Amino acid sequence: MEDVPAAPATMRQVIVTAGEGAFVRRAPIPIPVAGEALVEMISTGVCGSDTHALHGLHPFITLPYLPGHEVLGVVQAVAEGVTGIDVGQRVVVEPTLPCWHCKQCRAARENLCENLQVFGCVYSQGGMAEWFTVPANRLHPVPDELDDAQAILIEPLSTPVHAVRLAGPVENRTVAILGAGTIGLLVLATVLHQGAGRVVVTDMLASKRARALGLGAHAVVDAGRPDAVEAVREALGESADIVFDCVAVQPTVAQAIGMALNGGTVVIVGVPTGDVSVPLAMIQDHQVRIQGTAMYLPEDYRESMDILRAGGVQAKDFITGVYPMEQVAEAFAASAGGEHIKVVVSAR
Ligand SMILES: [Zn+2]
Ligand SMILES: [Zn+2]
Repeated sequence: MEDVPAAPATMRQVIVTAGEGAFVRRAPIPIPVAGEALVEMISTGVCGSDTHALHGLHPFITLPYLPGHEVLGVVQAVAEGVTGIDVGQRVVVEPTLPCWHCKQCRAARENLCENLQVFGCVYSQGGMAEWFTVPANRLHPVPDELDDAQAILIEPLSTPVHAVRLAGPVENRTVAILGAGTIGLLVLATVLHQGAGRVVVTDMLASKRARALGLGAHAVVDAGRPDAVEAVREALGESADIVFDCVAVQPTVAQAIGMALNGGTVVIVGVPTGDVSVPLAMIQDHQVRIQGTAMYLPEDYRESMDILRAGGVQAKDFITGVYPMEQVAEAFAASAGGEHIKVVVSAR
C-alpha cells in the first residue's frame, strides 16, 4: 500500500436505523485490502431507494444499513493488486459488487450476479462517510470536463441509460414515461438525447409535469385522469412503442400496458413495493413485451458520461438541494418530500 494519509483514526459515517432514521455516527476509518482503494468522499446523492429503505419500503434493503451508492470522491490510497486507478484521481463508484464467477458474471451480466452485494445498499459500507474502501474495479475515473455537480449524476443517469438500452433503439419512436421524479426525468433526458420521436410524460403532480415540459417533453398528461391512457395515445398520435414505468404500482402498470397496445414494450424502471396483476390475455394476444431492468453495466456509465459531456443532462436542472453530512436527516426528508429532484449530501 502506498501513500496512506495521516488521517484521524475515526471518521463521520451516516447510518440509517429503524428507530432513529438517518444520522451521523463515528466509525473507524477502513483500511483497504488487496484490490481495494481508499476513497475520500466529496459528495453522495440521496436516492429514492434510500428514502424507501428508511421507511422500510425497499424490497431488498433491511435496516440498519449504511447508505450512499451515488458517490463521488478522490482516491487517497490503493492496496496491492490495484491497476488503472491512481491516488489523487476523482472517481465515481459503480456500486454493484458482483461475485465474478457465477453464470451471469461469466456472461458479462454482472448486474444480474446471483450473489450480488451492493455498496451503500446491501454491504458493510456505504458512500455516505468521510472515507470508504471499495474494490478498485468498481471505480470509474471522472473526465476532467465534468465538474463535481455533473459527476454526481453519472450513477443516477446510468439506471435510465440501461433501461433505454434494454428497450431497444428509441430513435424516431414514440415514448411514454410514467412518473416525472428523478428517474423519470433522467429517462426523458436520455431518450431525447438519443433522438426519440414524440415523448409524453405523466405524473399526478402539476409541478412535476411542468418540470417534464421544461426539460423537453412534447406533452404531459395528468396520471390521475381516468382517461390517462387515451390522453397519452392521443398526445403521441398513436400507441407507444416504448413505455417506461418509473412508478411501478398497480395503476401505472395497467396504464403502461394500455398505452403499449399493440406490440409495444413496457420497461419496469421504478422499484415496486408490492405485486401487481396484469391483463395477461392482452399481453399474449397483442404481443406486448414486459422488460425488467436492473441497475447498469460499465457501458452505461460511459454513455452517461457522454450524455453529461454533451449537455443532454444539466446539473442545474437536477441538483436542487445540497446538505452537509450533519444535516443528513433533513436531506433524506427533502429527498422524500416531492419538491426536490436530486438531493446531495456533501462531506463538508
Ligand atoms: Zn440510486
Ligand atoms: Zn456473480
